[in-house]
Amino acid sequence: MSARILDGLTIRDEIFAELKEEVAQLAAQGVRPGLAAVLVGENPASQLYVKSKVAACEQLGMASWLHTPRADASTEYMLQLVADLNNDDNVDGILVQLPLPGQIDSKRVLEAVSPAKDVDGFHPASMGRLVSNRPGLVACTPAGCMEILRRNNIPIEGVNAVVLGRSDIVGKPMALLLLHANATVTICHSKSRDLPETIHRADILVAAIGRAGFVQANWIRPGAAVIDVGTNKVTDATEAKRLLANFPQRLEKFRGKGNVLIGDVHPDAVNTAGALTPVPGGVGPMTITMLMSNTVKAARLRRLSGKSQPVAAAR
Ligand code: NAP
Repeated sequence: MSARILDGLTIRDEIFAELKEEVAQLAAQGVRPGLAAVLVGENPASQLYVKSKVAACEQLGMASWLHTPRADASTEYMLQLVADLNNDDNVDGILVQLPLPGQIDSKRVLEAVSPAKDVDGFHPASMGRLVSNRPGLVACTPAGCMEILRRNNIPIEGVNAVVLGRSDIVGKPMALLLLHANATVTICHSKSRDLPETIHRADILVAAIGRAGFVQANWIRPGAAVIDVGTNKVTDATEAKRLLANFPQRLEKFRGKGNVLIGDVHPDAVNTAGALTPVPGGVGPMTITMLMSNTVKAARLRRLSGKSQPVAAAR
C-alpha cells in the first residue's frame, strides 16, 4: 500500500485564493494589510526566505517593506527599529528573520515586537494565548501542519498524536494545537526512551527534529497520518544511497545535483503510512502561507475591531 500524499502546494494555492479575496474585502474598507520584514546582514538562506515572503505579499496584493540593517547592527538599533514599526499604523505584521548575528540579543528584540503584530507567533504573549486556547497569532509551521490535517479531513479528535521534537517554534505549539483539537498528545525529545514503541502508537505523527530519515518505516503504525516537518539537506553519497535505495529516480537526481532534501521520516515510510507529507512540497510551502494568513488576521483584528467585519473575516 502506498500512502496518500498530502500535498502542501495544493493547500497553499487554496489558502492563497481565500486570502486574496479577504485582502480585496479589506481594501474595500480602506485597509491594506502590510508586512515589514527585517533582514540583518547577508546570510544567503535568510535572503532567499525573506525574498519569497515579500514576493508572496505582492502576489496577494498586500503591502511589504524590507529593512536591511548592517550585519554589525546593535541590539539598541534593532530595538529602535522594532519600536518604529510597532508605531507605524500601516504595518500589521513584523517579521524579524532569524538567526540574528551573535551581538544582537534575539530574545529582547523578539519580545519588543508588539503582540498585535507578532505574525511569527514567537512572542511570550502569543505563546500564552495558545497555551490557554485563546484566539491569537500562532507560529506558522505548526499552524500550517494543522491546515494540512484539517483540509485533508484527517480525524484529530480522540486519536493518539505523537509530536517528535519540543522546540518553541514547532514541537511545543504543535502539541498544543493538537491538544486543543482534542487529540491525546505525547511529546518526545532527545531524552525520550522507547521511541519506536511510542511512535508505533500514533495515529498522527508529527516529526520535527532535524535528523534525515530518523523515523524508520517500521516504527510507523500502518495507516497512520505522518506530517514530516524536517528539511535536511543530505550531501553525503553513502547516506543518500542508504535513504533512497528504493527510489532510484531520486537517487539519480542526487547524483546529478550533489544534494537532496530529506525529511525526518525515512522515505520508505510511504509504504507504511496511510497519508504522508512529501519533502519537499509538504509542510515547507505552508510556513509562508500561514505567515500571510497571520498578517491578514493581524490587520483585521487590529484595524477593524469594533467596526463591522466582512463575512470571510469571521473565521
Ligand atoms: P530544533 O529547535 O533543533 O529542535 C529539535 C528538537 O528535536 C528538540 O526538541 C530535540 O530534543 C529533538 N531531537 C533532536 N534529536 C532527537 C532525537 N534523536 N530523538 C528525539 N528527539 C530529538 O529544531 P526545529 O526548529 O524544531 O526544527 C525541526 C526540523 O524542522 C528541522 O529539520 C527544521 O529544518 C525543520 N523546520 C522546517 C520548517 C518548514 O517550514 N518546513 C520550519 C521550521 C523547521 P531536545 O529538546 O531534547 O534537544
